[in-house]
Amino acid sequence: MKKDIRNLSTKELEEFFIKNKQKSFVAKQIMEWLWKKSKSSFSEMKNISKLNRELLDSNFIINSINSDEIQVSSDKTIKTKFKLFDGYTVEGVLIPQNKRMTACISSQVGCSLSCKFCATGTMDRKRNLSAGEIYDQVVHISRQAKENYNFSLSNIVYMGMGEPLLNYSNVIQSIDRLTSSKGLHISKRRITLSTSGISKMIKRLADDNIGVNLALSLHAANDEKRNKIMPIGESNSLKSLKEAIKYYYSKMKKQLTYEYILFDEFNDSIEDAEALYAFTKHTPSKVNIIEYNPIESGIFSKAKEKSLSLFISYLENKGVVVKVRRSRGKDIDAACGQLANKNKS
Ligand code: SAH
Ligand code: SF4
Repeated sequence: MKKDIRNLSTKELEEFFIKNKQKSFVAKQIMEWLWKKSKSSFSEMKNISKLNRELLDSNFIINSINSDEIQVSSDKTIKTKFKLFDGYTVEGVLIPQNKRMTACISSQVGCSLSCKFCATGTMDRKRNLSAGEIYDQVVHISRQAKENYNFSLSNIVYMGMGEPLLNYSNVIQSIDRLTSSKGLHISKRRITLSTSGISKMIKRLADDNIGVNLALSLHAANDEKRNKIMPIGESNSLKSLKEAIKYYYSKMKKQLTYEYILFDEFNDSIEDAEALYAFTKHTPSKVNIIEYNPIESGIFSKAKEKSLSLFISYLENKGVVVKVRRSRGKDIDAACGQLANKNKS
C-alpha cells in the first residue's frame, strides 16, 4: 500500500529523493505544495519535474478530505460533512460571530469516551484523523469564510468530534502545520484545544511547550457527579486533574478555560457553583457556561434561566470571569456535542 505523503517529515522526504538519486531540495518544494498550497494531487505541482512527479505518484498518495454535504443554519453557521479516503466521515463547523470566524474541527472519527450528554459519544471511535485530515478541515472552512462572508478565518477550536489528547501526535503535528510559516501561519493564540481531561496528557502539553489555549470540559466539580456523566473521570479524578492543571500553569503561565454545561437539577445549584469556584480558584482561569444542546439519547435538559443567573452571580461575586456560550447552528445539528454524522439527506 502506498504511504500518505503528508505523514512524512521534510527530512524523510529528502531521504526519499536522495535514495532515488534525485536532488534533496525538491522535498521542500513538495512540502510547500502539500501544506502551504494545500494541493491534493502531484500533477498540480508545477515546478516539479515530470520524472519526480511520476516518482511520487508511484510511491505515495495524498489522503486529502472532500466536503460531502454542506448545511447552512439560519444563524449563518455552516456545517460540513467531510468524506475521508476510506469512506468514513467527520464534521467541521464554521461559526461566524460579528467579525470573528471560528472553525470548529474534529480530531477523531467518533469518540471512545462516551460522555452521556454528547452525540459524538454515542458513536464508537473508528480511528484517529491524520494531521493532514485535521489541517484540511481548516483549509476548507477557511475558504468557506472567505467565499460566504468575505472574512478570513480568525480562530480554530478543536471542539468537533473526538478527544484531541487521545490523538496526541497527529493533533500536535496539525497545530505545527497550522501555525508554521510553511503552513497556514495562524497564531497559536487563536487556537484552542478542548479536552475532556486526561491528566497525564495535560502535563505532556506543558512539557512539549504547546502554546495553544487549553479548555477543560469540567461540567461538574464533584467526582461522583462528574463520573456519572463523563466515564473518563473514573481514571482521571478531579484531584489528578487539579494537579495536572497546576503543573500546566506553572510551566505555561497561560490561563485555562473551564467549560461547564449547565444541566437542569443536576449541576446547577449554588453548592455546585461553590464546588466549581473551589476547583478553579487555584490558577488563573475563566469559566464558559455552555448551554446544553439536547441530543436524541439525552437524559438531561438545559438549566432554567433562573438557575443560570443565580449560578453566574455566585461565580461573579467571587471574582470569577464568566461567559455564557449560547449554542449556534442548532437547527442543523451543528452545535457543540451534536456532531454525529447524522444523515440528513
Ligand atoms: N472531546 C473534547 C472536545 C470535543 S467536545 C472535549 O470533550 O472537550 C467539545 C465541547 O462540546 C466540550 O466542552 C463538550 O463537553 C461540549 N459538549 C458535548 N456535548 C454537548 C452538548 N450536548 N451540549 C453542549 N455542549 C456539549
Ligand atoms: Fe468525546 Fe468530548 Fe463528546 Fe466526551 S464530549 S464524548 S470526550 S467528543
